[in-house]
Amino acid sequence: MKYWGFFVLKLLVTALVGFVLWEAIHMYWPSSRVNYRGVPASRFGHDLVYTLVLLVYNLILQGLIWLNIRDQRYRCRTCLRRLRMPVEQGSWSHMLLFGPPHTEYICTYGHGTLDVPETPVSGRTVWKRNEDMWKELFKPRGQSR
Ligand SMILES: [Zn+2]
Repeated sequence: MKYWGFFVLKLLVTALVGFVLWEAIHMYWPSSRVNYRGVPASRFGHDLVYTLVLLVYNLILQGLIWLNIRDQRYRCRTCLRRLRMPVEQGSWSHMLLFGPPHTEYICTYGHGTLDVPETPVSGRTVWKRNEDMWKELFKPRGQSR
Protein backbone atom coordinates (compact mmCIF):
# COMPACT_ATOMS: atom_id res chain seq x y z
CA MET A 1 0.00 0.00 0.00
CA LYS A 2 2.86 2.34 0.89
CA TYR A 3 4.49 1.58 -2.46
CA TRP A 4 1.42 2.50 -4.53
CA GLY A 5 0.62 5.46 -2.29
CA PHE A 6 4.06 6.90 -3.02
CA PHE A 7 3.49 6.38 -6.73
CA VAL A 8 0.13 8.17 -6.59
CA LEU A 9 1.78 11.01 -4.65
CA LYS A 10 4.44 11.39 -7.36
CA LEU A 11 1.76 11.42 -10.04
CA LEU A 12 -0.15 14.11 -8.13
CA VAL A 13 3.00 16.26 -7.97
CA THR A 14 3.44 15.72 -11.72
CA ALA A 15 -0.17 16.78 -12.29
CA LEU A 16 0.43 19.89 -10.18
CA VAL A 17 3.51 20.75 -12.28
CA GLY A 18 1.44 20.20 -15.42
CA PHE A 19 -1.31 22.45 -14.10
CA VAL A 20 1.16 25.24 -13.26
CA LEU A 21 2.76 24.95 -16.73
CA TRP A 22 -0.69 24.99 -18.35
CA GLU A 23 -1.64 28.15 -16.46
CA ALA A 24 1.68 29.79 -17.34
CA ILE A 25 1.15 29.03 -21.02
CA HIS A 26 -2.36 30.45 -20.94
CA MET A 27 -1.22 33.47 -18.98
CA TYR A 28 1.15 34.27 -21.84
CA TRP A 29 -1.39 33.34 -24.53
CA PRO A 30 -4.89 34.21 -23.39
CA SER A 31 -7.33 31.57 -24.53
CA SER A 32 -9.19 33.86 -26.88
CA ARG A 33 -10.58 32.26 -29.95
CA VAL A 34 -9.18 33.22 -33.31
CA ASN A 35 -11.33 33.78 -36.34
CA TYR A 36 -10.65 31.52 -39.25
CA ARG A 37 -12.45 32.97 -42.27
CA GLY A 38 -15.14 34.37 -40.07
CA VAL A 39 -15.64 31.16 -38.12
CA PRO A 40 -14.47 31.19 -34.51
CA ALA A 41 -11.93 28.42 -33.97
CA SER A 42 -9.69 27.35 -31.16
CA ARG A 43 -6.12 28.61 -31.17
CA PHE A 44 -4.76 25.04 -31.24
CA GLY A 45 -4.15 23.96 -34.80
CA HIS A 46 -4.39 27.47 -36.23
CA ASP A 47 -1.65 29.34 -34.37
CA LEU A 48 1.64 27.59 -35.16
CA VAL A 49 3.65 28.87 -32.17
CA TYR A 50 0.84 28.06 -29.71
CA THR A 51 0.46 24.59 -31.21
CA LEU A 52 4.22 23.95 -30.95
CA VAL A 53 4.24 25.15 -27.34
CA LEU A 54 1.44 22.70 -26.52
CA LEU A 55 3.41 19.95 -28.29
CA VAL A 56 6.45 20.68 -26.10
CA TYR A 57 4.17 20.85 -23.03
CA ASN A 58 2.78 17.42 -23.92
CA LEU A 59 6.28 15.99 -24.38
CA ILE A 60 7.41 17.40 -21.02
CA LEU A 61 4.44 15.86 -19.21
CA GLN A 62 4.89 12.49 -20.90
CA GLY A 63 8.58 12.58 -19.96
CA LEU A 64 7.74 13.34 -16.34
CA ILE A 65 5.24 10.47 -16.20
CA TRP A 66 7.82 8.14 -17.78
CA LEU A 67 10.40 9.22 -15.17
CA ASN A 68 7.88 8.55 -12.40
CA ILE A 69 7.19 5.05 -13.68
CA ARG A 70 10.89 4.29 -14.19
CA ASP A 71 11.80 5.58 -10.74
CA GLN A 72 9.00 3.59 -9.13
CA ARG A 73 10.02 0.37 -10.87
CA TYR A 74 13.49 0.46 -9.25
CA ARG A 75 12.31 1.10 -5.69
CA CYS A 76 12.04 -1.39 -2.84
CA ARG A 77 8.42 -2.49 -2.35
CA THR A 78 8.84 -2.39 1.43
CA CYS A 79 10.98 0.63 2.34
CA LEU A 80 10.76 2.66 -0.92
CA ARG A 81 14.54 3.12 -1.12
CA ARG A 82 16.21 2.93 -4.53
CA LEU A 83 17.41 -0.58 -5.37
CA ARG A 84 21.18 -0.91 -5.60
CA MET A 85 23.99 -3.18 -6.75
CA PRO A 86 22.88 -4.37 -10.18
CA VAL A 87 24.32 -7.79 -10.98
CA GLU A 88 24.13 -9.09 -14.52
CA GLN A 89 23.40 -12.79 -14.75
CA GLY A 90 22.68 -15.29 -17.49
CA SER A 91 23.94 -15.43 -21.03
CA TRP A 92 22.45 -15.84 -24.47
CA SER A 93 25.25 -18.18 -25.54
CA HIS A 94 24.86 -20.37 -22.39
CA MET A 95 21.14 -19.91 -21.95
CA LEU A 96 20.40 -23.52 -21.05
CA LEU A 97 23.05 -23.48 -18.34
CA PHE A 98 22.64 -20.01 -16.82
CA GLY A 99 19.28 -18.84 -18.16
CA PRO A 100 18.56 -15.78 -20.32
CA PRO A 101 20.41 -12.56 -19.47
CA HIS A 102 18.86 -10.52 -16.70
CA THR A 103 19.91 -7.98 -14.10
CA GLU A 104 19.22 -8.42 -10.44
CA TYR A 105 18.92 -5.43 -8.07
CA ILE A 106 18.74 -5.69 -4.30
CA CYS A 107 17.45 -3.57 -1.48
CA THR A 108 20.40 -2.63 0.72
CA TYR A 109 18.28 -3.41 3.78
CA GLY A 110 17.56 -6.94 2.56
CA HIS A 111 13.84 -6.64 1.88
CA GLY A 112 14.01 -8.27 -1.54
CA THR A 113 15.43 -8.50 -5.03
CA LEU A 114 14.19 -7.27 -8.38
CA ASP A 115 14.88 -9.43 -11.41
CA VAL A 116 14.81 -7.40 -14.66
CA PRO A 117 15.13 -9.32 -17.94
CA GLU A 118 17.46 -7.86 -20.57
CA THR A 119 14.72 -7.98 -23.17
CA PRO A 120 11.05 -7.64 -22.29
CA VAL A 121 10.32 -10.56 -24.61
CA SER A 122 12.28 -13.04 -22.50
CA GLY A 123 10.39 -12.44 -19.30
CA ARG A 124 8.74 -10.06 -16.89
CA THR A 125 10.20 -7.98 -14.12
CA VAL A 126 9.82 -10.00 -10.93
CA TRP A 127 10.06 -8.78 -7.34
CA LYS A 128 11.09 -11.47 -4.84
CA ARG A 129 10.53 -10.63 -1.20
CA ASN A 130 13.17 -12.02 1.15
CA GLU A 131 12.20 -13.78 4.31
CA ASP A 132 13.20 -12.28 7.61
CA MET A 133 16.98 -12.85 7.79
CA TRP A 134 16.97 -13.10 11.60
CA LYS A 135 14.44 -15.93 11.50
CA GLU A 136 16.55 -17.73 8.94
CA LEU A 137 19.75 -17.11 10.93
CA PHE A 138 18.36 -18.54 14.18
CA LYS A 139 16.50 -21.42 12.56
CA PRO A 140 17.34 -24.74 14.31
CA ARG A 141 19.93 -26.84 12.57
CA GLY A 142 18.76 -29.50 10.18
CA GLN A 143 15.57 -27.64 9.43
CA SER A 144 15.53 -26.65 5.82
CA ARG A 145 13.01 -24.66 3.85
ZN1 LIG B 1 13.91 -2.17 1.26
